[in-house]
Amino acid sequence: MPTAPLTIEARDGRARAGLLHTPHGDIRTPAFVPLASTATVRTLHASEVATLGYDMVLGNTFHLFIQPGHEHIERMGGLHEFMGWRRPIITDSGGFQVFSMGHGSVADEIKGRRDGGHTRRMILSIEEEGVRFRSYLDGSERFMGPETSMEIQAALGSDIALAFDECTPFHVTRDYTARSTERTHRWLDRCVAWQRERGPEGQLLYGIVQGGVHEDLRAESSAYVSGAGVDGVAIGGSLGQEKEQMREVVGWAAAGIGRDDVPVHLLGIGDVDDLLDMVALGIDTFDCATPTRLARHGTAIVRDPERRWRLDLERPEWRESREPIDEGCPCPACREHTRGYLHYLARANELTAIRLVALHNLTFMAALMAGLRDAIAAGELRAYSQRVRSGDAPF
Ligand SMILES: [Zn+2]
Repeated sequence: MPTAPLTIEARDGRARAGLLHTPHGDIRTPAFVPLASTATVRTLHASEVATLGYDMVLGNTFHLFIQPGHEHIERMGGLHEFMGWRRPIITDSGGFQVFSMGHGSVADEIKGRRDGGHTRRMILSIEEEGVRFRSYLDGSERFMGPETSMEIQAALGSDIALAFDECTPFHVTRDYTARSTERTHRWLDRCVAWQRERGPEGQLLYGIVQGGVHEDLRAESSAYVSGAGVDGVAIGGSLGQEKEQMREVVGWAAAGIGRDDVPVHLLGIGDVDDLLDMVALGIDTFDCATPTRLARHGTAIVRDPERRWRLDLERPEWRESREPIDEGCPCPACREHTRGYLHYLARANELTAIRLVALHNLTFMAALMAGLRDAIAAGELRAYSQRVRSGDAPF
């Protein structure tokens, strides 16, 4: 890229608001990135996602590699064209999904929905070259390494590619985490080399910081990754078991980056209070399955900090409720429907329930991020976060 990928327009403490520039346009930051893992934000069409206020979605390298295959998507004109989304796309590296099959515990996306528990036998080998595993689709043997991951992301034509990494889980030893993080760094160098030589014009490459919950490993990893010739830094892996530890670990990783102009993405975090904390630490972009996954379970994100911002529409108390999910929310579920109706739809497993709650949850997240951007621009992040924490915002 001829210019720096991130323009910082306002700062409030360590938080910043600005624009992230990519070949398919700018992303207003801080931004939440909805998942379009399988080339769709489930139950929504692309233009609706844009209308909700999102500038970027996340495509999943691993899932698209397995089905329908990156070569197929390339022949169909690339991922933007294939899914009818002509704005920026970030693709993850596939590392998280590949390793989740073996490590198990963090694989909620795959676990339960995909394979009913036979995760242990799915990884065949982990070597310096990459990872050999079985396809969850048909059991066939597949391979993914740094070059494969970059090749897939190049074929998809994403605006931001992530380097292939091992997502180290919480339960492994410090020694394992240290060795794995070093290998992730070697894999990063291979990704950078491949992309320089053969990557698509203008595609940004982010390296992923690992290091588990260890301060020195996180600091080393941040320094390594940000010095490796990447356009941005993503923070991945286990961030600990509780929120306090997460703040600490992300704080170490963010401080270790050392350069202030680098865009920073936090992988897999999307709870309301976490977003407030992490924006305050200077994170620019977030992706998380939570808003769309909760929708599948009939759970709406609401202004209720006491209940972790969640409203379970399937609970019997809503059966005869004539109120909307949130009277302040402009989404179609809230403007036109009652909790009672949504309760019925969710209990009856109607697709419309998933769709309406997804529209609501993504409206909530978009409003929250817009509120955070405005608050940073006005130098009022603290006061705004306090309003969110007491249930007075984002509506
Ligand atoms: Zn709503």
